[in-house]
Amino acid sequence: MMDTDYTTAAGIHGIKAFQDNYIWAIRHGAAVAVVDPGEAAPVLEILRRHHLHLAVILLTHHHRDHVGGVDELRALGDVKVYGPASETLPHCDVPLREGDRVLLPELELDLRVLDVPGHTAGHIAYHGTAAGISPVLFCGDTLFASGCGRLFEGTPEQMYRSLAKLMALPGQSRVYCAHEYTLSNLRWACTVEPNNADLSAWQRQAAALRERGDATVPTRLEHELAVNPFLRAGVPDVVAAVSQHVGRPVQPGVETFGALRAWKDDFR
Ligand code: ZN
Ligand code: FE
Repeated sequence: MMDTDYTTAAGIHGIKAFQDNYIWAIRHGAAVAVVDPGEAAPVLEILRRHHLHLAVILLTHHHRDHVGGVDELRALGDVKVYGPASETLPHCDVPLREGDRVLLPELELDLRVLDVPGHTAGHIAYHGTAAGISPVLFCGDTLFASGCGRLFEGTPEQMYRSLAKLMALPGQSRVYCAHEYTLSNLRWACTVEPNNADLSAWQRQAAALRERGDATVPTRLEHELAVNPFLRAGVPDVVAAVSQHVGRPVQPGVETFGALRAWKDDFR
């Protein structure tokens, strides 16, 4: 569950933006890094209210709801912007690609960069330690709780490979995705896997969290492996459900993944 207690000296806090975005704020002492600030106002409000100093902006991809606040936040002064090397961003001081490391001792932050093309062509993710919390994954719009990003600039093959990269990370990794899409993802996921008991239990739990106004993220990667159909394109039940949905036998793996993505795109 999201830590919203800004009175603690260190932690990762979710700042709500727009309808359903989360801007993740990594805080250590008075220093803060934010991930994907789509708008500046809610970030400025938190900084002012708690007397914090914005030191760093981490970007995962170029979409407006992730970078829209960059210029206004940079105007605060000494803010360093990290982002994907191959995307056009409002501003970037440190262009990153796979294998690069973001090491910021003042934020107890040590993150490795992964290339995860699919949602956008140059999308990156960050994995490692932030505010002393480890392991954490900031995956933008690549992986969601029981969902994944739409394929705006990539092929199913690319996204499948990107998600496989994330699946290889430690299972305890906390998944800090950029949107609260969980309940609508779960409505679809339960259609795909009506007999997945973990999934049904999670749907009830997530509904209760939202009922109380709480976030459903971050989740753990090992949990996603059990309840996220997009990470289960090799599971026989999922392959069978997809085959039935498209009306012909579908191969496990990327073919099943591509059909899942198309199914979800059309799901209302
Ligand atoms: Zn996006
Ligand atoms: Fe987004």
